[in-house]
Parts: sequence; C-alpha cells; structure tokens
Amino acid sequence: MRVCPICGKKYDSYPALSRKDNCTKICPDCGTREAVEVYTLYSQEGDITFIMEDKKNITSVVGFYFGEPDEEATRIFRGKLTAEFE
Ligand SMILES: [Zn+2]
Repeated sequence: MRVCPICGKKYDSYPALSRKDNCTKICPDCGTREAVEVYTLYSQEGDITFIMEDKKNITSVVGFYFGEPDEEATRIFRGKLTAEFE
C-alpha cells in the first residue's frame, strides 16, 4: 500500500509521477488531475470569468464567476457551474 502525499489516500496501483518535481510518487487520480490544464477566460462584455479545463483534445468550461480573474475565486468556483452573488 502506498499513501499519496497530495490527497492522503491509500492506493496499491502503479503510482504516477508528479509533474511538479518529476519525482514525487502520487496516486493515479492526482496524476490525472495534474495533467489537466486549468485557465481562465475573461469576458469584458459580461464582466464574467470562465474557468476552462484542457484535457488532451477536450476543452470544457467547468465554472464561472463574476468579475475579473482571481486565483481564489477560480479555486472556489472550479467544478461549479453556478455562481451566487448579491
Ligand atoms: Zn492522490
């Protein structure tokens, strides 16, 4: 059994190498997660930032929020296709 240093999960399948330092062994799930490119697209017209994910040849919108790109907001709204605001 190995323990993944990122998510703390125990796994016994073949480990993936972290792309951050190329030597840390992580679980396959985290390996897949690291392989995904996340970036933001800001639309000035609507004052909306879209969170995009690039997986090999697939680009998908995985969330959005109002306002300009913000690291914290990207983390919070990633994977959520609804945004609440007052
Ligand atoms: Zn993991």
